[in-house]
Amino acid sequence: MIRPPDYVLGIQPYVPGKPLEELERELGITNSIKLASNENPVGPSPAAMQVLQCSFANIHRYPDGGGYYLKQALAKKLSVGEDELILGNGSNELLDIAVRTFMKAGDEAVMATPSFVVYAMAVQAVGGRPVQVPLKNFMHDLSAMADAITPATKIVFIANPNNPTGTINRMDEFEQLMERVSDDVLVIVDEAYFEYVSDPDYANSLKYLRSDKNVLVLRTFSKIYGLAGIRIGYGIGRAELLTDMNRLREPFNTNSIAQKAALAALGDTKHVRHSRDVNKAGKKYLYKELQALGLPYIPTHANFIYIPVEDAAALNEGLLKRGVIIRPMGPKAIRITIGLPEENKRCIEALKEVLNA
Ligand SMILES: *Cc1c(COP(=O)(O)O)cnc(C)c1O
Repeated sequence: MIRPPDYVLGIQPYVPGKPLEELERELGITNSIKLASNENPVGPSPAAMQVLQCSFANIHRYPDGGGYYLKQALAKKLSVGEDELILGNGSNELLDIAVRTFMKAGDEAVMATPSFVVYAMAVQAVGGRPVQVPLKNFMHDLSAMADAITPATKIVFIANPNNPTGTINRMDEFEQLMERVSDDVLVIVDEAYFEYVSDPDYANSLKYLRSDKNVLVLRTFSKIYGLAGIRIGYGIGRAELLTDMNRLREPFNTNSIAQKAALAALGDTKHVRHSRDVNKAGKKYLYKELQALGLPYIPTHANFIYIPVEDAAALNEGLLKRGVIIRPMGPKAIRITIGLPEENKRCIEALKEVLNA
């Protein structure tokens, strides 16, 4: 019987959650709310929805493999060249392409733990070794991560803000890390929640775009832009770096519908601002209520809150029965996506009931 190599057998497949409808049927509930995957609860921009309605006319044609119009708009917005941009079927795909481009079996990649689980999976998929550095005060410990770099290191992953803790790394510590990274290492800065961050000290990773360092910045339309379901994200990096990644990119990796919706969403700055405001108000409400419940939380720079708890599995089960879907993070923490006001209220009410039960 054919078997995959050992390094593939070492990867735990991603276990998808059940469809909402199925979960409701099994639990005998209705009207459940999903606060588990950090999507924008407001939904997509109305401008993107509008474009989607009339984007089906040409689906018998292959998409524009270069993503011409979307890259043009991104280049203008970010003041970078179109050749400094790469589009992906979600930023997840770009992580994968970067790993396959720059790593081979036996190489190492430094990352934080807990952080986005996809980094380790992508590295293992090429027979690489994930070197996982524990968070310090729920933040990436950038100096310990620099210490973990060896001659075998090819990539350093930084999620900024970090998922699941919502913490950020600031400019000074990021600069100190960059000083210690040599020019044969790629630093991937995953900024999936970039648009939510308002802290003035937030590390500006694009500062290194044209330096002698190798930086790939990843952003996405899945979070504040509300387009998680149609899968599109982008990377910003030096042109030569992206030329190498384009060697492994499928010619038509992003679909035509996603390209059009993303272009419209990008232009709808009002919707982005509104989404940020809804998140800010929801965060304030949840902080106040969590505090009243005696639940310590980690202050977040994104659209989700990490809460250390005694028994994450029991809490999760109790919430599920009440139709509130959140994400347990190991045995001792949960992560709650900040929702709409009524969703946040229901979440708090359910938490109260479960904690008092
Ligand atoms: C949600 C998320 C992404 C986005 O993935 P897409 O493939 O763009 O949907 C990337 N990184 C982190 C840390 C995330 O939380």
